[in-house]
Amino acid sequence: MSELTGKIFDIQGFSVHDGPGIRLTIFMKGCPLRCPWCHSPESVAFHTELNWMEIKCEGIEKCGKCLNVCPHDAIKPGKMKKSLQDDTEIQLVTVDRSKCDNCGECAKACPPQALYLCGTDYTVDEIMKYIRRDVPFYQQSGGGVTFSGGECLHQYEFVREVLKRCKEEGIHTAIDTSGYVDWKNIEAILPYTDLFLYDLKNLNSKLHKMVIGVPNERILENARKIAAAGGKFQIRIPIIPKFNDSVKSFKDAGEFICELGDAVEVVQLLPYHNLGVVKYERLHREAPILVAEPPADELVQARKKLLEDMGLKVIIH
Ligand code: SF4
Ligand code: SF4
Repeated sequence: MSELTGKIFDIQGFSVHDGPGIRLTIFMKGCPLRCPWCHSPESVAFHTELNWMEIKCEGIEKCGKCLNVCPHDAIKPGKMKKSLQDDTEIQLVTVDRSKCDNCGECAKACPPQALYLCGTDYTVDEIMKYIRRDVPFYQQSGGGVTFSGGECLHQYEFVREVLKRCKEEGIHTAIDTSGYVDWKNIEAILPYTDLFLYDLKNLNSKLHKMVIGVPNERILENARKIAAAGGKFQIRIPIIPKFNDSVKSFKDAGEFICELGDAVEVVQLLPYHNLGVVKYERLHREAPILVAEPPADELVQARKKLLEDMGLKVIIH
């Protein structure tokens, strides 16, 4: 039988926004949702994927090493750009995504790693080595390990094994999830999860489906089941202009959160930002339609107060 592996696209140490204390956050590949405000488009595909960072590309005149290595002839000369070094015009490359099969040959040939593969397979032992390195920081700060994504619970078998090992070694564990997974995936990790960072985007299921691509009933039902099973939550609400920033939307969210009772430790508000737009260019993808201005601070504070008036503890990212 082959060894259990998880496909991971990033590992961030010293993270302070993904649960209590200082944490190691492990970002798993693959997500079934299509949030138009997603700032991690590289997380969406379940497979390993070629990325290209324009700012690192030295151009075909000076470099061009990727041009002749692609077995599918997917790399071509691309747009012109002013060089950062000497103000001359350089020609960048472009990737024909319809031909590329993400084999990675071009990434191996690219000296500055402008081309790179996103999504690496790790074994449980390999990830545990990363996790153990920061144990003193978890202990001093009340931190631990957080699995994020993508939707990390799609790779629940791998995640469960790592969480189980963490608990055996006394390390705090958190799961950052959309909740849009089969209950069996959650049930499998529940005994080893100290905290669920649980996204609540919109209580209106029709709107949820229209904007994100999936309805919300399964998400709400899973939250109720986690609460009934004794799980603990940090509920996360992204504040998205014109999607869920209205008073009604927050009242609905607040009522649902109150229904979960003592299971909810805190509500975290995450005001929308547009810093992820550049990442779409790395995948040669159009940025999503919903590119909006971040919500005003007054609105964020007013929504925080609304939830606090319902008896909830609220923090802003
Ligand atoms: S990843 Fe492979 S198929 Fe894709 S552009 Fe690079 S060499 Fe070609
Ligand atoms: S090998 Fe890398 S740096 Fe060189 S032209 Fe290709 S993408 Fe740009």
